Amino acid sequence: MSFCYDIKNEIGSIKPNPCCKLPLTYGFLLFSRAFSSEKISMQTENETAAKLYAKLLKECYNAETKIEVGGKKKPTYRAFVPDFSDRLKILASVDFGIAKGKINYDCFERECCEACFIRGAFLACGQIVDPEKGYRADFSVRDKSLAEELQAFLDKNFVKANVAKRGNGFTVYIKQREMIINLLTLMGASSRSLDLIETTMMRDVKNNTNRARNCDSANIRKAVSASVRQRKAIEYLIKKDVFYSLPKELVSAGELRLKYPIEPLSELCKNTDEDISVSGLNHRFKRIEDIYLKLSKGK
Ligand SMILES: [Zn+2]
Repeated sequence: MSFCYDIKNEIGSIKPNPCCKLPLTYGFLLFSRAFSSEKISMQTENETAAKLYAKLLKECYNAETKIEVGGKKKPTYRAFVPDFSDRLKILASVDFGIAKGKINYDCFERECCEACFIRGAFLACGQIVDPEKGYRADFSVRDKSLAEELQAFLDKNFVKANVAKRGNGFTVYIKQREMIINLLTLMGASSRSLDLIETTMMRDVKNNTNRARNCDSANIRKAVSASVRQRKAIEYLIKKDVFYSLPKELVSAGELRLKYPIEPLSELCKNTDEDISVSGLNHRFKRIEDIYLKLSKGK
């Protein structure tokens, strides 16, 4: 199966926190094929996504969903709510300003809820190209204002995306490797993110014989997982408005990491004016991660 199929299976299988269930459902509904009193439906090639949609509607609204399988070459799953009163019930209880095509931020209690919302949106209308073939992720969205809302939402979560018209609707697309990694990390597809970076790093290494001699895949994997952890900590601290109040050596280390998201520490040291060793830099990242762990646990 495709990379995209695997990603959807992976993020569709993550059990949401109690606070996240509604945001996840909200993302699904808002970005699915139809969401009105006449029709509430989604269509996908991914069975996990269709089943999750049905399960969430049952659990959140006690609404019945039917799933029909069609498609000639590949199976296509269409999940829809046949009962008019069920549809009204969902619309009435959701009432998140959907008519205006806006994302209602009031339904996100915590940071985890925003991540779940985007996961629902991706399951409803997202696609991602196999990283071996190129870098592209996109969301197919019904109308322009919703597409722009999604773009702003992603931007707020460190994912830079663009909007373009496509067919009858719009596409919100991401073409930069780092941004795709951010998106995958945001959606909770952590092992996938690592695989993606590893694939591309391996490719870069293969293109550089000098470095190939010094690198093996275990080392790359170690460096990559450390860089993802570090970025996650830094981005969290920025979001919580504490990052720039940290001691300045930590701020400069964090900024360096954001500028070079996946490079190993030895490369970071070469790219700064500061006189710092690999172990010194590593120590700074440890301190950043400690602060992150303390803060994120305290919430
Ligand atoms: Zn939550």
